[in-house]
Amino acid sequence: MTALDIRGHMKELSINFFHGGWRSFKFSFDKDLYEEDVKCWGKTDFDQGIIHLEDSMKGDLLRETILHEITHILLETVGYGDYDDIDEAVPLHNERLTVLVSRAFLQAMNLNQELFTTLLSYE
Ligand SMILES: [Zn+2]
Repeated sequence: MTALDIRGHMKELSINFFHGGWRSFKFSFDKDLYEEDVKCWGKTDFDQGIIHLEDSMKGDLLRETILHEITHILLETVGYGDYDDIDEAVPLHNERLTVLVSRAFLQAMNLNQELFTTLLSYE
């Protein structure tokens, strides 16, 4: 029997979405992802509600990229806008930003327990 990796567990447990609280984001594994003509490992489409992940990723790279995209969503949640909305970002003191981001992570971990357990438990 072969041990399942992160993606194998996501498939087995039907972890198809990240629940952001205010909306869900579907995971989509795609080949040859680009963000403004630059190859990338992941990107989140806030309009469509899709987290695009490079199909070839696994292990540490997949885990970090999923957390990276989740962090974009959580920063959006606490008022840091989309990738390009620099004007919307409100400058905050480290302590205030930490309170907001840590609460957003706690919310995300509570809403996505199987996803976070999978990311922490498998290669
Ligand atoms: Zn990014």
